[in-house]
Parts: sequence; structure tokens; C-alpha cells
Amino acid sequence: MASTDYISYSPSAVDTFGNCETRFWFDNHADGSGVTPTDDTAASVSRATHDALMDYHGQLEALHVAGHSIDDETAIKRLNQLLDRHLQEQNMSRFDDPVARRLSSASNGLHRAALLMRDGMKDWSIDPDSGQLLVWAEAPLYHESEVAGVELKPGFRSRTRPDIVGIRSSDDGTHRVLVRDYKARGSVVYPRFDTGIIVRSWWAMSEIMSPKCDWFVKDRSLALDDTSIDVETVNLQFGADTEFTVSAAVTLKALVSERDRIVDTLQEMHEIDAADTADRAVPTPSGLCRNHCPHLHRCFAGQQHIQKRFGVAALHQRLSEVV
Ligand code: SF4
Repeated sequence: MASTDYISYSPSAVDTFGNCETRFWFDNHADGSGVTPTDDTAASVSRATHDALMDYHGQLEALHVAGHSIDDETAIKRLNQLLDRHLQEQNMSRFDDPVARRLSSASNGLHRAALLMRDGMKDWSIDPDSGQLLVWAEAPLYHESEVAGVELKPGFRSRTRPDIVGIRSSDDGTHRVLVRDYKARGSVVYPRFDTGIIVRSWWAMSEIMSPKCDWFVKDRSLALDDTSIDVETVNLQFGADTEFTVSAAVTLKALVSERDRIVDTLQEMHEIDAADTADRAVPTPSGLCRNHCPHLHRCFAGQQHIQKRFGVAALHQRLSEVV
């Protein structure tokens, strides 16, 4: 918990808890026994890709505000250059075999994303008073600056920042909020069912109805649609697919129902987290145990799973790698 006054977990902690309660408990209760090394390639490439996309968005925004555009070739080249820089920061190169494999499956998606982001710049609304382009990348969400996070209900918060949140004008003259995330997973992410996107959409709807955040819709003379929030995922691994972008509109009624579900989960997480042992947490052995869980050496259920699926030698090999 981030405070004694309220329960607060991030959307990614909610997802971890959903995948395996025991891993969630271990994440929050270090015991000094070290970690089981994990295969970080996918996560590192994802992080570099994400950071490159966010920097690219910043460049596009600056170019757009200055009245400039770039052609397809330049757009793709810029994104690739940024990706190379962020890979280098993590001591990786696109020519390393595991990195090349990850990137080749996302190459179509990255090209499409470069053009989608460029072409979408003209769709963001402009504040009629300040002339500001109303789109924000990676902005930490809050209602009042002294209290971090999204208030889901009194006593329940979640700290998060969307890849993109912005305001677009619609055909009827009103303005609509869009929450967009770029996803590098091997399966399509549907925005309507993504915890992070729902929390961010709840924040946007709360701000439309009762503006408090000092940089979003407060004090802006815009007619904002308060019936639903547009949500979108860009699925980078599906660049050749119709599900490259998945869009939906989440109504207020649906947001309330999803909000209640997440609050119930936060309460459950808090109760399990507050326990001194992992006994209350239910382990969920899965494909994540062997190469992606840093707590395998602390988890009897995970060890049993590895032993049954891969044999005792594989288990001993993994346990011998603990650092
Ligand atoms: S090893 Fe598997 S079951 Fe155990 S905590 Fe990790 S993910 Fe959960």
C-alpha cells in the first residue's frame, strides 16, 4: 500500500495478481534469498519499443505544431533511429539474434504505427483559447496534484499513466476523449478488457464530470462528450492484421461496472498483501513459471510444475542459477 489512508495498486500489479496471487505476494515481500534469473529479452525490447514510440510522438507533436509534416520514408526512419537508440541504452542491438527475432515479428506493426501516429496528429483538438494541441504522452494521472493516482472510489486509488490520452473533435461538434496504448504482446489486446485502459478511462470520465486535474479538461471551453470514452490498442505484433488497431467506446455505465470490479480486486489484493506469509495467496503455475518468474526458488507450486513438465534436471538447473 502506498499510504495508510487509501489502498493503491497499479494496473500492472492488478494484472500480476490476476495471473498469480503468489507472485504478487512475493513481489511485495522480498526475503533476501535473491532472484531466479528471468528471460528479459521480450520485456527489454518491449520497453525500448515503447520508449521509442513515445519519443517519436513527441517529435511528431513538435513538427505538427510548427506546421511541418514528414513523408513515409522519413517517418519510418525516425522511428527506427529512436528504437536503435533505446535498444543501445539497454546494451542491445537490433542485430542480436533474440532481439532481431522479436523485432522481425513487429516490423510491419512498427511501420504502420509510424504512419498512424503521423497521420493522426491532425485529429487532435486544439484548445480554442490557448491554441494548445490537446494530446498528452505518458502523463501521470491525478485529480489533485497533491494526491497521486486515479481515485476509483474513496479509499481506492491506482497510479498509472497512459501511453496517449487526448481529445478529438467529432462530427457533431463535441469533443471526445481517446485513451490509446501501444501493445507488444504476442496476443491481441482488446482495450475494453485491459485493466490499465479502464482505469485511465475512469479517470478521464471523472475529470469530464468533475474537473480537478490542472492540465486536462479543467477551465477549457470545450463541449465534451460525457457519455463514453474512446479506447484503442495498437497491437504491434499484428501489423498485417485487421486487429492491428482495436477501437471501442466505453460507456459510463460500463465504466462504473468495471470500476467496481477493479475496486473489489484492490481490496482482495490489500488483504493478501497485508498477510505476513503467502499462505492466503493462491499460486497459479503456468508457462510464466520457468523463465519469467523471479520467485521460482521461493515457490513450491512453481517448482512442482517445472519438475512435472520439464523434469527434475530442468528444475535443478533453474534453481542453481539463483543469484
Ligand atoms: S513460480 Fe509460478 S506459481 Fe510460483 S509464484 Fe511464480 S508464477 Fe506463481
